[in-house]
Amino acid sequence: MREKKFFGANWKMYKNRREAIEYFEKIEKKIKNIEDKKEVVFFIPFHLLLPVKDNFKNIKIGAQNFYYKDEGPFTGEISAKMLKDESIEYAIIGHSERRKIFNEDNKLLKEKIIAGLKHGIKIVFCIGEDSNEKEKGEEYKVIDSQISILDNIKEINENNFIIAYEPVWAIGTGKVAKSEDAEKIHSYIRGLINQKGLSKNIRIIYGGSVNSENIKEIMNMPNIDGVLVGSASLKVDSFEKIVFFEK
Ligand code: PEP
Repeated sequence: MREKKFFGANWKMYKNRREAIEYFEKIEKKIKNIEDKKEVVFFIPFHLLLPVKDNFKNIKIGAQNFYYKDEGPFTGEISAKMLKDESIEYAIIGHSERRKIFNEDNKLLKEKIIAGLKHGIKIVFCIGEDSNEKEKGEEYKVIDSQISILDNIKEINENNFIIAYEPVWAIGTGKVAKSEDAEKIHSYIRGLINQKGLSKNIRIIYGGSVNSENIKEIMNMPNIDGVLVGSASLKVDSFEKIVFFEK
């Protein structure tokens, strides 16, 4: 799967239905003819999933979160099973905003990964150190702990699982990691997943202030298989320049 480069747009909590429709009306024509060497997925807020799925057949979409129980008294939550029933292909799990603002911990994230894979949802699993951890030189320790939750999840394979290395200090800050530093960590993560007996073809993508200026350098790194893009994915022009960057 590594030869298929992944371009994820994380819209977070932005856009109403009209704005989303205008966006996809512009971008669908271009994405439709994308080479089979690229996969483009839009992680959009829940209220947009069905209108976009029903109106834009050439657009791949994903959710930004789900809860691990199939159903029950969990006010405000949505399950992987519900997403699957609506044929939603992908979901992000473990984004740093979920970890920090909504206190999602390793134990919960493991349950979510297991539930998502059980229902056939493809997972983009986010990991990465924050600025304090980086200052203390603890990035490898943080990554070890975040990756350790993948132990004994036999269902993970190169077709249903992507790891997104997103250093928290680079998210929404304009401070992109130096591409050689990101490459070092990606190569470390690849080593870890190999040790765990997981496929060496699992894609490891980078996220954190990616834009049309830095995309080429990032994508030139041998262990970076794609990107997860926040703010630069909100405008058609800037996201298009990222997806169709010139090598
Ligand atoms: C993100 O939220 O996943 C992200 C990478 O955001 P940004 O591109 O805005 O840093």
